[in-house]
Amino acid sequence: MTEALEIGNPPITVMLKKSARARKFSLRISNSDGSVSLTMPKQAIIHDAIAFANDHEGWLRKHLCKRPNKILPVFGSSILLDGAEVQIMFGQGSHVRFDAGVLYVSGTNAQVPAKLCAFYKTLARDRLVQASESYAKMVGRSFSRITIRDTRSRWGSCTSDGNLMYSWRLIMAPPSVQAYVAAHEVCHLVEMNHSDAFWRQVAAIYPNYKKQREWLRHQGSHLHRYQFKR
Ligand SMILES: [Zn+2]
Repeated sequence: MTEALEIGNPPITVMLKKSARARKFSLRISNSDGSVSLTMPKQAIIHDAIAFANDHEGWLRKHLCKRPNKILPVFGSSILLDGAEVQIMFGQGSHVRFDAGVLYVSGTNAQVPAKLCAFYKTLARDRLVQASESYAKMVGRSFSRITIRDTRSRWGSCTSDGNLMYSWRLIMAPPSVQAYVAAHEVCHLVEMNHSDAFWRQVAAIYPNYKKQREWLRHQGSHLHRYQFKR
């Protein structure tokens, strides 16, 4: 059972979670949707939970403010494509079209996120398939299948049976970053680990990869701010 309480003004909704393992109260702000939850020991009383939440109202407000806002792509706004900000504008025709720094999308504002999402998935697949093929040739291995997904925790993966997976959000990152992720995953076809041998393999087909890794570490989460579902 989930209970919720509201603290302060304007109210912050705090979901209560009772846990048999919890020894003390703890507050958490979800990274993906900003929801607040308070985990409490099973025996604890609600009165203490409310007091705990109230005591931490300042902390909560500070962290909720700092959270980067979600971006919903609409006409007139901009979005990242290949690492550059591009404009979203209304255009005729059933397909999304990219021309001179502008993404032309037909239909209504409400349809823009879904249409762009489909367009980005196709672009990402083309790009990452091509990159994977050329890097696979360089390491002398082949892969079985490529899946394009919307993953939160990783940009790509490689299974022991040679299936590659990539996040389509990479199409918003600079092309060099997309290439690095493909090179990285393809190197797992040779070394299924992150050993020194693995990194030597990466450096052999993608020298100076450190910049791209840094980019993902520092800018990567920004790609998750774009919301493609209403
Ligand atoms: Zn890896």
